[in-house]
Order: sequence, then C-alpha cells, then structure tokens
Amino acid sequence: AQSLASISTPKASVLPSSSFAVSKRAIPNRQAIALISDHGDPAAEIGREEAGGQNVYVRQVGEALAKLGWQVDMFTRKSHPDDPAIVQHSLHCRTIRLQAGPESFVPRDQLFQYLPEFVEAFQKFQAKEGTNYPLIHTNYWMSAWIGLQLRQQSNIQLVHTYHSLGAVKYRAVAEKPAIAETRLAVEKQILEQANCIVATSPQEKEHLRSLVSQQGYIEVIPCGTDIDKFHVMPQSEARVALGFQPHEKIVLYVGRFDRRKGIETLVRAFAQVKQQLEANWATDLDTLILNPSLPLPTLRLVIVGGSDPAQSDGQERQRIEQIVRDLGLTDQTLFAGQIGHDRLPLYYTAADVCVIPSHYEPFGLVAIEAMACGTPVVASDVGGLKFTVVPEETGLLVPPQDGTAFANAIERILTDDIWVRKVRRQASARVQQNFSWTGVAVQLSDLYRRLMAQSLLAPSAFTALDPMAATPENIATAAVRA
Ligand code: UDP
Repeated sequence: AQSLASISTPKASVLPSSSFAVSKRAIPNRQAIALISDHGDPAAEIGREEAGGQNVYVRQVGEALAKLGWQVDMFTRKSHPDDPAIVQHSLHCRTIRLQAGPESFVPRDQLFQYLPEFVEAFQKFQAKEGTNYPLIHTNYWMSAWIGLQLRQQSNIQLVHTYHSLGAVKYRAVAEKPAIAETRLAVEKQILEQANCIVATSPQEKEHLRSLVSQQGYIEVIPCGTDIDKFHVMPQSEARVALGFQPHEKIVLYVGRFDRRKGIETLVRAFAQVKQQLEANWATDLDTLILNPSLPLPTLRLVIVGGSDPAQSDGQERQRIEQIVRDLGLTDQTLFAGQIGHDRLPLYYTAADVCVIPSHYEPFGLVAIEAMACGTPVVASDVGGLKFTVVPEETGLLVPPQDGTAFANAIERILTDDIWVRKVRRQASARVQQNFSWTGVAVQLSDLYRRLMAQSLLAPSAFTALDPMAATPENIATAAVRA
C-alpha cells in the first residue's frame, strides 16, 4: 500500500488562534467518542450545496448513540464566521466546529490542504478538554486521512464510513479532478488499516473488495431514517397542507442539484409520462362516457432541494429549469426549494411516486425516507438503491439514465392502483424493520464496544489471528492467550 508520507502533503499548518468557549461536560462518566465529518457539518442546513446524506447520517447517528449512553462529539470544519464553534444538540451530543482554513465555503476538492490544521485543532481541543477519544469514527475520505494521522499519535480504534467511493465515482467521470489520485490512495489505506470499515450496503462492500482492496475488515451496517418523523399519514391531509389537489398525480424528486443525481433523466421521463397519460385518457371512451365531467388527470412534477445561484448546484438548477422550459413543462413543474425534515414527510406523503434517478448512489437516504412514508420509489438500479428498494415489492428499479425505462416505471405506479396499495404497505414495513436510526445506532454501538474491548488486549495477542477481525470469538481467544 502507498504510505501516507508518499501522499502529497498539504501546506504547513497553522494552529487556530481562537480559543473554544467550551464548558466541561456535565456528566463525565460517559464514554466519549468522536465522529469526524470534516466537510459535512452535522449541524448544517440539509439539502444545499454539498450538504446531504453525510450530514444527516452523522447527526442522526450521533444523536441516537447519545441516547444509547455515549458522549458523542461530532467534529467538522468551521465554514462560516457566524457559525458557533459548538452546537449542543442534546445533553450528550454536540457538533464542534474546528478552524481549519478559511471560515468560508470551500469545495471539497480543494479542502485537502487544510487537513493538517484540522488535525492540530482537534488535538488542541482534546488537550483543552482533558479528553482522549479511544474511538474515532471518520466519514468520507478526507476525515479518514485525519483519522489515520491521529492514530499515528495515540492508541485509538478507527472506524470509517466512506459515503462515496472514488473508485466508483471516477468510473463515470470523463475528467478526474487533480485530487483523484490522493483520494484513491487514502481510500485504499483506510480500508487496509482501519479497525473496521462500515459499509452501508452489501453492494458497497462488494465494490470495496473488487475495486479497492482484498485486505481490511468490513461490516455492513446500513444508513437509517427517523421513523418517528417519516411514517405513513393520510395523503389527503398532506395535500391540503401543501396546497396540492386531490386529483393530481404527483411525481416527486428530493435531493441536491448535482449532475450525478440524474434530474435531467427524470424531467425527460416525466415529459414522456405526460404525453402517454394524456393520449390514454383521450382514447378511454368508456371513462369519458361514464364520467363526462371527469377532469383530465393533472400531472405535477415537484422538485425539492436547495441551491445557491453562485455555486455549482445553482448552475445545475438553471440547467434543469431550461430543460423544463424546452419541454413545455413549466406549468406542471414546481421547484419547491430546500425543505427541512420537519416538513419533508408531507411532500413524500403527498406524492404518488418518489423518483431517484441517480447515476451512482452509495446509499440514498431519500429512498428509505419515501418508503417510510409509504410512497413507492422508482430508482436507478445502482449502489445502495439495489439494497433498499425491493423491485415489485417497494417500488421499481430501472437502468440509470434510461428515460424511457423511468417513464414506463413511473406510469405503472401512477396507473396500477391495486398493486400500489400493496407496495405502499410493504415499503413502510421494510423501513420500520430494517432502517431506523435507533437500529443502526444499536449495531454501531455494539461494534464500538467490541473494538474497544479488543484495544484493551495486548496487540501481540492478536497477531496470530486476523488482526482486523474484532469478532467476539477472536476477542475471547486473544484474552485467553494474553
Ligand atoms: N434533504 C433535505 N431537504 C432538501 C433536500 C434534501 O432535508 O431540500 C435531505 C434528504 O431528506 C436526505 C438528504 O438530504 O436526508 C439527502 O441524502 P441522500 O443520501 O439521498 O443523498 P446525498 O445528498 O447524500 O447525495
């Protein structure tokens, strides 16, 4: 494996001058652990530029772990001068924003140079608090680099979640960014050297094995959703709350404006569905004769997600708006903007179908949020979506970027009422059983405890075994040998 030293190192770092206004924790006898999410601020507004699933994951996992008895400190980079250095989410869960680089938005491809500052700020924070985190869970490859640096200096258990995999992402990209080689090297290093990789789907584990390395220990623990917020509600009430009509057929997209999300495929598919449904309606003479006053089914496309005109997501939104205009869909399309998780369940509930047309999706939180609300999903047959969406049972999977396949799947869901009723029930049941944040946190908590038990044992006792395999059997055998 390429060593860390050989990965081009960022510029000399500077310690942040500002001190932290932090009080000592109220109850010190909890075990403190650190989650690091360098660029995905867990306290940020979700659904804007580069703020999506990773932010949600870290925040929700952090809060759920705190409920299970941990003291959870979530570290991120301070990216706005007005943002407070500490955000207390609950008594035992907080976001800590470290100064590393400018206090402004920096695209993730340009953040690597500031990571040494992050490492130093993290160490300074630990010293000031008198805390040594025995376990650090890093998120995304840049935080992995930070975790690997920290582990060189103290005995920590390192857990990593990728959120996105360069080896997969760059396959679909014509021109790789300058940072690509560094990213790929760090992603290989963390897989081989972390105490455990948390893959969020079996598909991700397969990708790690086939595209990154055969070495390293991986456990599959999925992402989750807040099933107290995202659950089945009467569709009519949600429509009234949002001002949608009962007879409308609503097709929903939720997510960031990013080309990888494939919104263009959805818009083009929607145009086909509209054409097809209108043609069918006009020829359905029986319906017309029996119900001469039946209104033409109105199709509506609702696109939820924030954007900033000065950033790349703003440009993608403009591009999508232009396609909507070119296809004559302006009257049918609503750009709802950024919607918080307090109101998002209304949108999922009001919709007849939620479409996830991503070219690549490591997990795809939107799929389980929609399903939790009992909304059928039409998604690309890629990545984590293959794991969460069960074809015919909770929705349909179709080839990515295939507009006609999306159109056919959407149309089927809009017209096959009897089957859809079953799909709705199965979708919400699948999420309740498999994807609650509490269930995810219980699995992570169990993993952390096993790893921390392992770290108490003499490292040499593990060398004859698989050093990465923190199974209860290995721990027991090692304990006997020690
Ligand atoms: N989201 C939101 N408001 C919006 C748009 C998106 O809260 O206006 C949330 C959405 O509910 C989901 C997350 O952003 O929890 C997107 O996660 P996903 O894994 O689907 O995609 P990513 O952004 O990680 O690529």
